[in-house]
Amino acid sequence: MIRVVPDVAFVVGHTDDRPGATAVDGLTEVEWGRRVCAAAHDACALRGIRSCTLEKPPAGTYRDRLQVLTSYLNELDPALVVEVHFNVMPGHDFRGTVALHWPTSAAGELLAQEVAQRVADSIGTRARSGDGALPQARSWNGPSAVGPDGQPAPGGPPLYTLQWTRMPAIILETHFGDSADHVQAISRVSQIGEAIAAGVDETLDRLELT
Ligand SMILES: [Zn+2]
Repeated sequence: MIRVVPDVAFVVGHTDDRPGATAVDGLTEVEWGRRVCAAAHDACALRGIRSCTLEKPPAGTYRDRLQVLTSYLNELDPALVVEVHFNVMPGHDFRGTVALHWPTSAAGELLAQEVAQRVADSIGTRARSGDGALPQARSWNGPSAVGPDGQPAPGGPPLYTLQWTRMPAIILETHFGDSADHVQAISRVSQIGEAIAAGVDETLDRLELT
């Protein structure tokens, strides 16, 4: 039997029962993730990149769900993984795109750079933290796991999609759903999908994975 291994697996960042943050127009992260993953999948197909889209299991604790998801990803063994989210930060006027990668993964950092800058351009916003790549081992509930002194810092729950996957993986925060970027973002889903596909394409080339 011939098994076709995807070049990239897209992951919807949330689930219907835990839909994530809500944007100014009521759009939830889970719905946004589905739209963006579908657009990225279509754009990949046009480039001859094999992709698939996964959703997290609908039941269990945060840790259990991510255990199931990452075990499945490691078995599926795509070359790259991209999980899709947006941010909200009430009381601030934060804008921009960022992609989180596991701090010690150079390939993850490359993927984060290649995707974040293109997504920022497609929305018409900026890449946060320079090239948009941010080393991160914990969620936005707390500070980065790597403190200014290089030592592990306390924070929120670990980002298991980054920690437990064997392949380069990123968590893409396309924009802030409570910022002026949101109107642009929701009108440019196909362009965002194309931006992700282009970043994946470039990363596959540079890592010589195709
Ligand atoms: Zn999220």
